[in-house]
Amino acid sequence: MHWHTKLAQPQTLAAPGFESLATPTYRGSTVLFKKQADVVDDWNQAKNGYAYGLYGTPTTLELSGRIAQLEGAKHCFVVPGGQAAIALIYFAMCKAGSHALVPYNAYGPNKEMAQGLLKDLGIEVEAYDPMIGAGISELIRDNTTLIWVESPGSVTMEVQDIPAICKAAHERGAMVALDNTYAAGVLFDAFAHGVDISMQALTKYVGGHSDLLLGTVSVNTDALVEKVGKTFKQLGLAVSPDDCNLALRGLQTLGIRLAHLEASTLEVAEWLTKHPAVAQVLHPAFPSCPGHDVWKRDFTGSSSVFSFLFTEEYTAEQVEQFIDTLEMFKIGMSWGGVTSLALVYPNIERPGKDYAGRLVRLNIGLEKPADLIQDLEHAIQKISQ
Ligand SMILES: *Cc1c(COP(=O)(O)O)cnc(C)c1O
Repeated sequence: MHWHTKLAQPQTLAAPGFESLATPTYRGSTVLFKKQADVVDDWNQAKNGYAYGLYGTPTTLELSGRIAQLEGAKHCFVVPGGQAAIALIYFAMCKAGSHALVPYNAYGPNKEMAQGLLKDLGIEVEAYDPMIGAGISELIRDNTTLIWVESPGSVTMEVQDIPAICKAAHERGAMVALDNTYAAGVLFDAFAHGVDISMQALTKYVGGHSDLLLGTVSVNTDALVEKVGKTFKQLGLAVSPDDCNLALRGLQTLGIRLAHLEASTLEVAEWLTKHPAVAQVLHPAFPSCPGHDVWKRDFTGSSSVFSFLFTEEYTAEQVEQFIDTLEMFKIGMSWGGVTSLALVYPNIERPGKDYAGRLVRLNIGLEKPADLIQDLEHAIQKISQ
C-alpha cells in the first residue's frame, strides 16, 4: 500500500478495552454500514442504529440520554443552543395559519422570532400576561397549536401557574412548551406539572462555565418524539461532540453548583431587600416577586438569576453609572457560569409598567457573597453621592 493509501484507510491500532469515568468525544460525519442493505437515513439513532453524524455521535446521544433521564423525558434532542431549541419547537408545532401564545416576559429572541420569521411564514404569535393562569382559556382559539410558558420569566421574573395553563390548553387540544432554563431542567419538574415539551439552554447551568452553547428539547410521548424528530432532521441541527463532552462534564457538578449558587444568591438578594436604595427585589423566593406562592408550591429551589429595582430617586443615568462602577460583577449576557454578572434593561417593555431604566438583573457566581455585597454597596454609594 502506498503511504497515501495507508493514511486514507486508517486501522485502529490502540488496544480496545479502555474504561474510564469520562465519555469519549466521538467525532464523525460519515457512519459506516456493514452492507448496502443496512444503509438508512434515520434521525432516531438511539432506536434504529447509527446513520449519520448530523443526528449525533455516541457523545451527543449520551448527553441526550442523561438529560432525558434527569428530566423524566422519553426523548431529548440536543441542538446548537437555547434559541435553536425555541426555533425547533415553533417549527415542529406550528404551520401557516397556526396561532401561538407567548408570555410577554419571554426570552427576548423568542419574541423576536415570533415577530420576524414566524410572522413572515403566516404564523400568528400573540403575547399574553404571564400571570394569567387559567384565564388563558379565553385566548385559546381553534387554531391555537402552541402555548409557551417561561417561569420565572426573563428579567421581570414572574412565576407562572403552569398546571393551570396546561389544564386549559389540554381542554382545547393545544400543546404547552416550557422554557425551563432558569430551573436547569431540575428545579421544576416540567412533565409532572403537565408540560408537553420542555426546553433549556444548556449554555447556562449545565455548561456552567460560560464556554459553550447548546440547547435541548425534551418530550414525553411517542407522537411528540416523532413530530419533533421529523422537524429536527429537516432543520439539520447538528451539534459539536466537543461541546457535548463539555456539557457531560458540567452535568457532573450541576448539583453542587446549583445548591451553592442558590445559597449565595439568596444571601445577596436578602441584603438588597433591606437596602434603602432598592424599591423591589424580583427573586421568586421572596414575597415581593409576582407568583412567589406558585414558586413555593411548584419548585424545589431557586437559582442564580434575579432582578432588583432602584427607588424612584435614581435616574436611568445613575443606574447606568452603577453598572459601570461595579468591579466584581462583569457586564455581559448569558448567565449560569462561575462569574457574577450585572446588566440594566433600559428599554424593557411590560404592559402597564414603566421601569424607567431602574431595573437591574444580576447573575450571582461562585464568589463569596460578602465580596459581592461589598461591590454592590460601593457602587450604590458612588451613585448616591
Ligand atoms: C439564554 C437563554 C436562551 C437561549 O440560549 P442560547 O443557548 O444562548 O441560545 C433561551 N431561553 C432563556 C430563558 C435563556 O436565558
